[in-house]
Amino acid sequence: MNPIEDFFPFLHKQSKVVITMHQKPDGDAMGAALGLYHFLIQYGHPVSVISPTNWANFLDWMPQVNKVLNYEKDTAFADKLIAVADWIFCLDFNAMHRTKKMEQSLLNAHAIKVLIDHHELPQTEAFDYGISLASKSSTSEMVYDFITASGNRDKINLDIATCLYTGLMTDTGSFRFPSATASVHLAIAYFKEIGLDHSVIHEKIYDINTEDRLHLIGNSILRKIEVFYEYNTALMVITKPELLKYHAKTGDTEGLVNYLLSIEGIKFGAMVIDRDEERKWSFRSKGSFDVNLFARNHFKGGGHKNASGGFSKDSLEETVKNFKAILLHYKEALN
Ligand code: 5GP
Ligand code: MN
Repeated sequence: MNPIEDFFPFLHKQSKVVITMHQKPDGDAMGAALGLYHFLIQYGHPVSVISPTNWANFLDWMPQVNKVLNYEKDTAFADKLIAVADWIFCLDFNAMHRTKKMEQSLLNAHAIKVLIDHHELPQTEAFDYGISLASKSSTSEMVYDFITASGNRDKINLDIATCLYTGLMTDTGSFRFPSATASVHLAIAYFKEIGLDHSVIHEKIYDINTEDRLHLIGNSILRKIEVFYEYNTALMVITKPELLKYHAKTGDTEGLVNYLLSIEGIKFGAMVIDRDEERKWSFRSKGSFDVNLFARNHFKGGGHKNASGGFSKDSLEETVKNFKAILLHYKEALN
């Protein structure tokens, strides 16, 4: 993978562009993708944003999100765009398999592939140009860096600022995680200078609960938390009947895992959701406990030191049993 700076001279060359991100894009993946979209269209490039899957409807207000294709719905058309693309930007993921069913089309594509990402251990051989910095708060921050480092700060408009702010806000837990550095706040200061209304974005992302979702959260907090005090660990298990009872949609369980870390003294929070195709794990930690390694070593996943995910093809009962057995080996690390 060549350094991203070596790609800057191409920006002016008329090119067909595809932008993609990890499956089930979150605020950062969608924010980075749409932020880059609003930058690249200023060169007159035809730009398509393709999400590997659907996304949470709390992202549906974002500028031009209605133009984003869902690969699972529009497979044939998306495959055509990928096949003829000159450039493919891969945002907010470190390995092609994070695009699920899109993986093969991306691997077959002839386009120049550009990675911008902040997850550990990037699959650098899969990309022609790129930048991977695990120290960065968000891919949205890195898209801001991409635009400014290429000498294009003046191209940052309100649409770009709105999209990138969304990613910065969601990936830093509204600026409370250690990843919210001075450079994060400096980027936001610039967005404010050009007129960003940040309060509206907080409302649009966080204040759109349905009654069903609040009940799902309430039930999960009331009945579904198991605390292992000797391990400073809390576990939450969400079953299929619960998802059905509260009509859970994509995104409804987002953030639920964070309640575990709000229990005083808890350093490790783990949540598992019984999805149709797999049991999906979310891991969060405070301090030195590395959940990226935990996810990688035990649940085929990865992510960041303090926030990661993984999955299991076992039954819910089996994967929870397995988790509890694994936890026994971490008593020292968690104390
Ligand atoms: P979440 O728990 O919010 O789904 O994910 C937390 C972080 O871990 C995100 O940065 C996400 O991209 C990453 N992540 C989640 N699931 C997986 C996975 O299965 N594999 C890898 N490599 N990363 C994941
Ligand atoms: Mn991210």
